[in-house]
Amino acid sequence: MGTTKMIYDLIPSSDPLLHEKIKKCSYNLDRKDISFTLNENMLYHNGVGLSANQLGIKERCFVMIRSEDIENLQTLVVFNPKVVKYSVRQELMEEGCLSYPDLRLPIRRPYSVIIKYEDAEKNIHKTKMSGFIARVFQHEYDHMEGIDFTQRQDGK
Ligand SMILES: [Zn+2]
Repeated sequence: MGTTKMIYDLIPSSDPLLHEKIKKCSYNLDRKDISFTLNENMLYHNGVGLSANQLGIKERCFVMIRSEDIENLQTLVVFNPKVVKYSVRQELMEEGCLSYPDLRLPIRRPYSVIIKYEDAEKNIHKTKMSGFIARVFQHEYDHMEGIDFTQRQDGK
């Protein structure tokens, strides 16, 4: 056990696990181990965010990039995330999803969000995200809720 490098195949977009709301993380979840797995797999699949259920793991957590500075890549793993508040201001931007290779869709989303989440040590954080990072968070958060970006597509 422990932190062995493990690359998963992404489950197909039709898998029911991508279309159900994921409940709170298991009490005994090894948060360090799953953080490692999420990070490894996001990097391997060249994503800016990756949810546990995309790997077939039914836990309410995901990894995402921490800033747009891809050169100095820093990631953030969140457990039991929640969006506390959405901004009124919205922004339209093209999005992709690792579960839908080659598909890019224009999606309108709030520009900023106030969010709450736990880290691997179960500390609770509340913070504001804006712009691209807020978009990534909302995209991954949607995965936790069983929603994928094809359901968010902007009315042509
Ligand atoms: Zn996605």
